[in-house]
Amino acid sequence: MYDRILVRYGDLTLKGKNKRVFIERVNNLIKEKVNNPKVKIEKNHDRLYLVLNGEDYNEVIEGLNKVSGLSSYSLVSKSERDVESIFENALNLIKSEIKGRKVTFKVESKRSDKNYPIKSPEMTQKVAGYVLKNTDNLIVDVHNPEVTLTVEVRLDAAFVYISKIKGMGGFPVGVAGKGLLMLSGGIDSPVAGFLAMKQGIQIEAIHFESTPLTSIESAQKVIDLTEKLSVFAPNSKIKLHMVPFQKIHTALLDYIPESYNITIMRRMMYRIAESIANENNCLVLLNGESVGQVASQTLQSMKVITEVSRIPIIRPLSTYDKLDIIKISKNIDCFKTSIKPFEDCCTVYVPKKPATAPRLHRAVEYESKFDFNELLAEAVEDTKSIIVTHKEHLDITMKGLVVGEVL
Ligand code: ATP
Ligand code: MG
Repeated sequence: MYDRILVRYGDLTLKGKNKRVFIERVNNLIKEKVNNPKVKIEKNHDRLYLVLNGEDYNEVIEGLNKVSGLSSYSLVSKSERDVESIFENALNLIKSEIKGRKVTFKVESKRSDKNYPIKSPEMTQKVAGYVLKNTDNLIVDVHNPEVTLTVEVRLDAAFVYISKIKGMGGFPVGVAGKGLLMLSGGIDSPVAGFLAMKQGIQIEAIHFESTPLTSIESAQKVIDLTEKLSVFAPNSKIKLHMVPFQKIHTALLDYIPESYNITIMRRMMYRIAESIANENNCLVLLNGESVGQVASQTLQSMKVITEVSRIPIIRPLSTYDKLDIIKISKNIDCFKTSIKPFEDCCTVYVPKKPATAPRLHRAVEYESKFDFNELLAEAVEDTKSIIVTHKEHLDITMKGLVVGEVL
């Protein structure tokens, strides 16, 4: 029944060169994610048609759902240009859409062939009349219809389409530049990474792994989550930086009072992340922090922790409710992986009473108790960077990516 898919771009308030870059990137993403040479792209001003050439539209839609920057799309049915053919096409389409339900609707018409004998308002009336006569449950509502049936007459054929399927929205990934995502094995940070990509930010990921203090499975989880996220990335690839954090972790347990352990651990993470970001041309850091979730995410903690960094930090989830985060996590197929019960460096040795309102001078004083600069430099030096893609599963034990063995 369907011949093509009409694709609508996202934010077209953009102008000039930005708009061109935007559209070119979306089109490239569409080609890559749909990944079917038989499906042809047909450009038409601010819209795009994907001509199916007999291919399964469900598969094409699955690809489109991974393209950031698309606001919506519609399945389009093609017919001859005579009114009878248009009537029949419109009727079939609306019947299959409403399936006997009582539904309000309206018809809209467009005529890109200005020589076509029936003008748009007249076409609208005729089609609406025909559809109403041949169905039982439709009610016209031109102001707020549940269903809009659009008829478009072009030079070569006529098209009819109904529903709008919502796309990812946002901006094409990469258009905003690159950021470094602090990725733990939890629920939040993969969601933060997804939202960043959806907003046009290409990501690299950084993980602080403390094997053998923590299990090797917790590091594998991070690779698995990066694979899941790569579905949305340009060329389905994300660079992942594995930072050996165990020595720093141990030093913190030795030198830092328990209540400041997390505060200072996070200051160390930010220092390393900033340096890896700079080395890799990442303009911002991204993470899964959400205000109030845990002790290290109170506003006072955030202030004391981020005091060590100069690079901008984006926290896509800072005001999100956990339930909303979980919903997105499920939608992007990360949830099941995220809840696998392996401890990471923030869950091993959780202090009994972490400082929720740490003081900067205290943090600085405790840090002066050991030479952390050398440890930081060593961790950056020994960081292993890999390209992760969902197209090829990576087993952590094979690449010697982590220092430690399973305890
Ligand atoms: P998540 O569910 O993402 O693990 P969380 O609620 O458990 O988050 P924290 O453990 O306090 O919160 O971490 C807050 C953020 O810090 C994480 O979302 C992540 O961005 C970053 N982070 C924490 N641990 C690590 C790690 N080992 N490597 C990289 N980033 C980390
Ligand atoms: Mg965590």
